[in-house]
Amino acid sequence: MLSVKTISPLTEQYLHREEEFGAHNYHPLPVVISRGEGVYVWDVDGRRYYDFLSGYSAVNQGHCHPRIIDAFVSQAQKLTLTSRAFHNDVLGEYAEFITKFFGYDKVLPMNTGVEAVETGLKLARRWGYEVKGVPGNKGKIITCSQNFHGRTISVVSFSSDEQSKRDFGPFTPGFEQIPYNDTAALQQALQDENVVGFLVEPIQGEAGVIVPDDGYLAKAAAMCKEANVLFIADEIQTGLARTGMMLACDHENVRPDILLLGKALSGGTMPVSAVLADNDIMLTIKPGDHGSTYGGNPLACRVAMTALQVLVDEKMAENSLGQGAHFRNEIRGLNSEFVSVVRGKGLFNAIEISHPNKEAAWDICMSMKQNGLLAKPTHGDKIRFAPPLLINRAQIDECVSIIGKSLADF
Ligand code: PLP
Repeated sequence: MLSVKTISPLTEQYLHREEEFGAHNYHPLPVVISRGEGVYVWDVDGRRYYDFLSGYSAVNQGHCHPRIIDAFVSQAQKLTLTSRAFHNDVLGEYAEFITKFFGYDKVLPMNTGVEAVETGLKLARRWGYEVKGVPGNKGKIITCSQNFHGRTISVVSFSSDEQSKRDFGPFTPGFEQIPYNDTAALQQALQDENVVGFLVEPIQGEAGVIVPDDGYLAKAAAMCKEANVLFIADEIQTGLARTGMMLACDHENVRPDILLLGKALSGGTMPVSAVLADNDIMLTIKPGDHGSTYGGNPLACRVAMTALQVLVDEKMAENSLGQGAHFRNEIRGLNSEFVSVVRGKGLFNAIEISHPNKEAAWDICMSMKQNGLLAKPTHGDKIRFAPPLLINRAQIDECVSIIGKSLADF
């Protein structure tokens, strides 16, 4: 076990201050980052690390991508926020850009990921009552076990993670949970005519990068279509080139009825999320029904257009696909006795640590930190590896040797 000796006095100062004055709702690795560029971050002592979390995939384009920062700064000097009480001269351009980019009639702009999820749920219910004809207040949304869609009360209402619900009730009704990657369970749940939507992560990120069977998404989407139920894809973590395609659903040619995006939509500069759908769904929401002060602000719109364009121009999906496959091969090639599973798609990967010590994954992350790579355990025994998507072959190889050395040290 690595001791606190590895933490410098300067770092200690930052940790103490945060502990003293900040709420204790996270358990971060004891590293204090003060600068980022591309695949690297530097701590307050000037030590450089590979970032293998990428802000939970918000920084797919790399830290402080120059084009995104340019767009941010130049728009910030002109106009940042009008609220939706007035029009601004960027929202229309953005709405046209992103709807054409993903092939939908309309976009509804929000800020955080969980707001996009909430918006998707509202849209599905509204559509259920006004278009499908479900009786009032009877609408039901199917969700999956081990899901992660954010932290509001409604969204944790359908979480299977006890910790995220403890003493936060009462919860929002109207959700049914079925096992992930189980089309038979979905078929069963779809028998209920009051079901309006099926909310699913194409790959379950927080659960530990759980990749469903090939064909699961396509079959689930077809079953939803047959049952006149909306297929709602939460691509907040899996989308935007992370898994080797622009959307994880693209691997199976699935077009969600409601598409939820966030995180890398701003390249890690500010909270920007989006909900995309066609008119029959989106136009059920009327002025005053839903919104957000910051949603659709000109700064977010300008940044999001650039963040998307950078993914395309720099072929980040293609890079993610190729480097990801190479990464998994190399990690398997380490033949570590502590790694029981290596899985993922593109540069969205995880390993499972098998060791009697429950802290093993944490200790390995501490060891990787010592060796110059930052990653974080998820659900105890899993470590997610999700570097910025511009990482190259030589850097991947260096990272694999850091991971190998850290496993060996352990
Ligand atoms: N949905 C998924 C799949 C996520 O991974 C997350 C965050 O990790 C969210 C929603 C919530 O996003 P935010 O933290 O921006 O609210």
